Amino acid sequence: MKYYSTNRTAPPAGLKQAVTESLAPDRGLYMPETIGRLPDSFFETIERKNFREIGLAVARTLFGGDIPGDELETIVEGTLSFDTPVVPVGENIYSLELFHGPTAAFKDVGARFMARMLSHFTAGGSDSITVLVATSGDTGSAVANGFLGVENIQVVVLYPRGKVSDLQEKQFTTLGQNIRALEIDGTFDDCQRLVKTAFLDPELAGRLTLTSANSINVARLLPQSFYYFHAYAQLKKIGREDGVVFSVPSGNFGNLTAGLLAKRMGLPVKRFISANNRNDVFLDYLRTGVYSPRPSVETVANAMDVGDPSNFARILDLYGNITDRVRSDITGYSYTDEQIKSCIGKVYDETGYMLDPHGACGYMALAEGLNDGETGVFLETAHPAKFRETVEEATGRPVELPESLKAFAGREKRSVSLGKDYPGFREWCLANLV
Ligand SMILES: *Cc1c(COP(=O)(O)O)cnc(C)c1O
Repeated sequence: MKYYSTNRTAPPAGLKQAVTESLAPDRGLYMPETIGRLPDSFFETIERKNFREIGLAVARTLFGGDIPGDELETIVEGTLSFDTPVVPVGENIYSLELFHGPTAAFKDVGARFMARMLSHFTAGGSDSITVLVATSGDTGSAVANGFLGVENIQVVVLYPRGKVSDLQEKQFTTLGQNIRALEIDGTFDDCQRLVKTAFLDPELAGRLTLTSANSINVARLLPQSFYYFHAYAQLKKIGREDGVVFSVPSGNFGNLTAGLLAKRMGLPVKRFISANNRNDVFLDYLRTGVYSPRPSVETVANAMDVGDPSNFARILDLYGNITDRVRSDITGYSYTDEQIKSCIGKVYDETGYMLDPHGACGYMALAEGLNDGETGVFLETAHPAKFRETVEEATGRPVELPESLKAFAGREKRSVSLGKDYPGFREWCLANLV
């Protein structure tokens, strides 16, 4: 399978190139040239299949031409070692819990899959790959844990000093082995700028193979379609598969894009909702037809504090750059911090279900936008314990840490402090990375 660039000037790339480069040379995002459809027979019996069987069938459709069957099976089995259950919250509203992985957020699926795919492409060779990742919290932890111990790959996590929670910081500064953490005296945007500048630096490019592990990378993005199929299977089992609407708490829109791809692969989804916090440039786009990125603002759902979503280009591309076609599949809603907190409290009081601030946006969008005859599923993208303070304040209840996160609490932080200027970062790379 070839992957083309959304900017359409770079030549199409093979999977290995798309995965190791992340971004196409013309700065566009890679997209699969053809999106295969799963056969009707697959959907006829999908309710009897487990997550791994479903994941493997979808992975074969996406990557079967590029990775031998048994290896793809190993990659999928290694990735999907935890469940993504669908849990009822309201009468027609279900939570798709994506937080049962090692770092308790949905990014575990894509990060673990990407680590295994990269390792497949570098196995036996002498090339080592350096993954640079800027994080405001969740991405760094998922990528660091996903890549831990993977041969021929080193990971450098850049994070803004004092701007990630202690627990998040522990998840990427305590691992050792092939994972290193740089504590940058600046903001998340500074971290991101350092990473972007490094990718364009010819001397670094001459010495290191650099790649990124955010959702611009197809190996992280595409596997996120697995759990949409698995959610549908679970709904079909209980006879609720008609008129399914997925509500996706969105930041860089990788998760939503994976859902749109699942629909193209034949998943019988009626439509999607993009749920946002106050960073709602996508909603503005849906309303006006004009895309105007703007600086992000801080909210309690901080994994969605994105002012210029990187996967916007992919969504446009999927709909032939025609806004009305985008609108026919996706509607949008956005919420303030006050609305998010009061929703968490209210849903807990009424149902006993504890939402995290991101899932709360997804839930509210369904409560507001679901029509008669539809079944709503919001993606619960993180465990509420990851946003403990907000959730405890909103519910008045203590939040118990999941076992996977408790393990990090007692470990010792190891990170290197750096300024936000590029020359210092570059010097560190040249001295410390090989
Ligand atoms: C990353 C993240 C999001 C946003 O996902 P995108 O794919 O960037 O849209 C939402 N919620 C949580 C908890 C996240 O970590």
